[in-house]
Amino acid sequence: MTTPDLVHWINKLIENNNIKAFYNSKLWEQIRDEALKRDNNECQKCKTKGLFRAAQCVHHIKHVRKHPELALSLDNTISLCNSCHDEEHPEKLNNKSKPQLNEERW
Ligand SMILES: [Zn+2]
Ligand SMILES: [Zn+2]
Repeated sequence: MTTPDLVHWINKLIENNNIKAFYNSKLWEQIRDEALKRDNNECQKCKTKGLFRAAQCVHHIKHVRKHPELALSLDNTISLCNSCHDEEHPEKLNNKSKPQLNEERW
């Protein structure tokens, strides 16, 4: 996929509130696997604190919403455990694991 196509696709998904489709795509799956391999399946944020924790997800350093052109760029990814990932996304806490928190409290 070319970069303009990628940007167009992602912007469309964001518009339709369906960014999940990106994370379910084969394209992302490949980048995610490569990132995990590169980072030895370890949370890179914990690692800088001298801790070992298995990576549970791959995060976009520059968020996809702001930088859709970097969505499939391996250099823009980092493997994180879920708690470090949550710290990177305070805006997400209102949907998944912690329904009692919402954006207003942040
Ligand atoms: Zn971590
Ligand atoms: Zn993330």
